[in-house]
Amino acid sequence: MKKSVHLNERQPVRSVPVEAKMDTSVTFNPEQIGIVNKAVALAEELVSNYYKMSASQWLHRRYDIKTLIKLAPDEVVEGPFAQIVRYEGRHPDRALGSSTYDLYKICLQDHAILAALNQKPNLQLLPFVLYIVTHELIHIVRFSRFLQYFDAAPDERLAEEKRVHVKTHEILEPCRVPGLGEVLEFYNEWRIPYDDMKGY
Ligand SMILES: [Zn+2]
Repeated sequence: MKKSVHLNERQPVRSVPVEAKMDTSVTFNPEQIGIVNKAVALAEELVSNYYKMSASQWLHRRYDIKTLIKLAPDEVVEGPFAQIVRYEGRHPDRALGSSTYDLYKICLQDHAILAALNQKPNLQLLPFVLYIVTHELIHIVRFSRFLQYFDAAPDERLAEEKRVHVKTHEILEPCRVPGLGEVLEFYNEWRIPYDDMKGY
């Protein structure tokens, strides 16, 4: 996989007030990783059902989800709970330049997620990560369907951010996941962008 040129970087937008510099060495423990994996599997199922994508249409190999321990230094941000980094993927068996595709990496920011859980004791890890990953997957589906450009102007990004929050609510509202109501309420309160996107 080759990184393409750096296209843009949005200023991180804080959704949780940060009093002190965040400690980016705080990572999920093994038990928390297990919970994150469950949330990711559920988010994938919900988003693929919502967009009526079959297993073969689903975006396998078009995205990756990583937690902090697997992130490169420039994939770590302070403030946002996640960011999407776009890479240029290339099929190894084909001639140079003939077949590239976008590969999106959802970079979960363990330190920011855990800090939010500390500040808001009514939030639980599973429904919180479920919201975050569902939200990011909706972004990626919309990029891959050209409903939104990755490199959109800031105004348009903000509008898209609101649309994606609305869709996230729509998908998650009928779900019977303990603690999800509190998360949806949290995002009603904090109905502002919380993720960050970079293109390489
Ligand atoms: Zn977003």
